[in-house]
Amino acid sequence: MTKIRVRFAPSPTGPLHIGGIRTALYNYLFAKKYNGTFVLRIEDTDQVRYVPGAETYIIDSLRWFGLLPDEGPEFGGQVGPYRQSERKDIYREYADLLVSRGHAYYAFDTPEELESMRESNPTFKYDNKSRNTLKNSLTLPAATVESLMEKNDDVAIRLQMPVDQVISFDDEIRGHVSFDTNELDDKVILKGDGMPTYHLANIVDDHLMQISHVIRGEEWLSSTAKHVFMYACMDWTPPAFAHLPLILKPTGKGKLSKRDGAKFGFPVFPLSWDSDHEEDNFTGFREDGFLPEALINFLVLLGWSPGNDQELFTLSELCEAFSLEKIVKSGARFDIEKAKWFNQHYIIQSDNLKLAYLIQNKVIEAGYHVTVEYIADVCGLMKERVHKTDEILDNARFFFEPPGTYDDNTISKKYKPEYSFHLKSMAESLMICPENEIEATIKGYIAEKSLKAGDIMSLLRIAVSGSMQGPDLIQSITLIGNNECASRIIRAADYFEKSVS
Ligand code: GLU
Repeated sequence: MTKIRVRFAPSPTGPLHIGGIRTALYNYLFAKKYNGTFVLRIEDTDQVRYVPGAETYIIDSLRWFGLLPDEGPEFGGQVGPYRQSERKDIYREYADLLVSRGHAYYAFDTPEELESMRESNPTFKYDNKSRNTLKNSLTLPAATVESLMEKNDDVAIRLQMPVDQVISFDDEIRGHVSFDTNELDDKVILKGDGMPTYHLANIVDDHLMQISHVIRGEEWLSSTAKHVFMYACMDWTPPAFAHLPLILKPTGKGKLSKRDGAKFGFPVFPLSWDSDHEEDNFTGFREDGFLPEALINFLVLLGWSPGNDQELFTLSELCEAFSLEKIVKSGARFDIEKAKWFNQHYIIQSDNLKLAYLIQNKVIEAGYHVTVEYIADVCGLMKERVHKTDEILDNARFFFEPPGTYDDNTISKKYKPEYSFHLKSMAESLMICPENEIEATIKGYIAEKSLKAGDIMSLLRIAVSGSMQGPDLIQSITLIGNNECASRIIRAADYFEKSVS
């Protein structure tokens, strides 16, 4: 069997969209399943769209998910460099080869000329019809071509798409796919400045890096027709292709876009991204309180299914179970509620101390000076009640400071004038009782005085936490400390008395 080598080949044009992570994940899983190699290649030949910081963002995101490349910039490997901008000298030879074989030509039209052509004809395409009327080495006399080549050192090379042919290939997911060459334009493959464009660099690198399978988004399907043509022109065997289904908006209509995060109120990027432009600042899943293992589990099922109803998978289980055959053709709807469901599951499974380290900075920023062990205990009590780690602190302020407000609605239903006295004397007993007798002290007092347990327990909960929501009351009191809770109860008893009278 051929050695499996796959690559994730993002362009550093901004933060990596969550759909890009799914592509990386599928490549990673496919490589791991077959003991293959997962390569990261940075496709940075388009200097105009290059965004500083984007490559670091890509690598940080992969690291956060634990999808570590076996080869790539920062990871090393035998077939580097892995940044296309550092491979510039490699590509010209292949562009020249295509010209010499009659599959590509020199194009002398200036950007201004092409622009004015587009202005007068908005559907203008540089293709196998229009090229016959344009300024290139196919239309101009050989002597003119030679002199233009001498005078200009910034001549572009275009791919010469054949006329009236059909290009087909077998996609691992979509089956047999065909394209009519008359529909495909003559793409620039080498720009005037000697930089290759995506198409040339992509196939040359996939070939030189011995990539066995190209697994990428559906939007690259029509490019693949051009690539298959180029492989044939080079006399190279193309890799296998697998084009992944789209990730759709929550409404199910249209592709999930980077702006949909703001529109629907959830992140679409793994990590936060800061930009000079307000509208390009994005909050990441990490900063919003998602765990990477939950997102992996969520993302893998956007387009792939195990063939049974198992939903929960660890990364190593996925490396076993994953297969290209079980990837579907139709788009997968991005359902944030499902992502939260997975997140809740993984939060519950998480070690309390791990959760504590995740929220520790937020706790410190909020001005609370407590040990990480204390935060871990709070996480232990809270974790079943949240869907995102950032909700832990939001719902657990009373573990760090006395409540600032009380649930007046419940107080008015539960409070009776004699309760103030009882709450205060219960607080006094609590102050002196040992930690393991908190429950017995409270319950014993209620029984001894024949009080209504439902009322008293509700009022105690409000006294300690301000509201009726929260984890087990006795465990909460034990963690906060009986002395602190006793003074909260005394203060609340005064408040109850005043508010009801
Ligand atoms: N550089 C392309 C991108 O930004 C890669 C497409 C491919 O995988 O061939 O997605």
